Amino acid sequence: LATKAKYVKEKKIGQGTYANVYKGHLASDPSQLVAIKKIKVNAAFQDGLALDAIREMKCLQELAHPNIIALHAVFSSKAQNLNMVLEFLPQGDLETMIKDTSITYTLPHMKAWMSMLCGAVWFCHENYVLHRDIKPNNLLIAADGEMKLADFGLARSFADPGRRMSHQVITLWYRPPELFYQARHYSGAVDVWSVGCVFAELIRRVPWMPGTSDLDQLSKICDAVGTPTDDNWPGVSSLSGYIKPEKAEVKPVRGRDFYEANFSGVGTEGVGLLMEMLKLDPRKRITARQTLRHPWWTVNPRPATKEELPKKG
Ligand code: ADP
Repeated sequence: LATKAKYVKEKKIGQGTYANVYKGHLASDPSQLVAIKKIKVNAAFQDGLALDAIREMKCLQELAHPNIIALHAVFSSKAQNLNMVLEFLPQGDLETMIKDTSITYTLPHMKAWMSMLCGAVWFCHENYVLHRDIKPNNLLIAADGEMKLADFGLARSFADPGRRMSHQVITLWYRPPELFYQARHYSGAVDVWSVGCVFAELIRRVPWMPGTSDLDQLSKICDAVGTPTDDNWPGVSSLSGYIKPEKAEVKPVRGRDFYEANFSGVGTEGVGLLMEMLKLDPRKRITARQTLRHPWWTVNPRPATKEELPKKG
């Protein structure tokens, strides 16, 4: 039986940068709701290449974790379409929580969300999957309060960049410095940087480093974190995209005082974790695995339970 016959597509519920999203259900059980994300695959992926894409997606299907959106199935309808059948999560995302000023959340809530996020990222990395596009808008909220990492960057790479489906552009704000320097070997550290940016934004309720272009993003990183140099990141100057700053332009790496002043709400341990996530040198950055053993989770106040987390509307 073809996979597509197992699902019934209902009305369109959303439009993303590169996909349309439909509500749907299991053909054999209409009470089992799903979201069907239909990606228009780039012309370059035609002639069987879409099959490779599907094979790669099949790996994601095996990532079963409470804080990672379930990918139930992948199928191609017409030759140019890739359909992802996902867990149905209509309760909004973390971006909404952060932006909606009528929602209040506290330290235990932030701790719970961050702990879910770190668990999800650890699980991805443990299974050799990088997400590469972690941001509040990709952290969906389930009806029971569980937060789920969604929208793996892989899917985006199949989409046709020439065919923008909305005015949204892929945001730079969560991208680590090594990607701007075109580091050829990058690692799980890229995701940890993004998690750090989400953490900072959760606390401040505004994006921490909102760059407007690649260059502006790098300069925001230099201002907020420090200028990457061979002193704080041995070897950085030999990366192909490295732009050598004038001596007078070099911003020193921010110390604990700066973080304490800007992120006082999360306590000494929380500030420490944030600093570890925003290390310029990806090799010095805390790993997802190490974040799980961080003392921040166990010092008081403890993380909220998922039932206690705020809900949209
Ligand atoms: P974006 O390009 O903004 O990341 P997506 O393509 O992921 O957006 O999704 C577009 C919209 O579709 C979302 O804003 C949301 O309303 C809806 N949506 C996406 N995924 C799901 C899901 N798993 N369950 C329910 N609604 C979803």
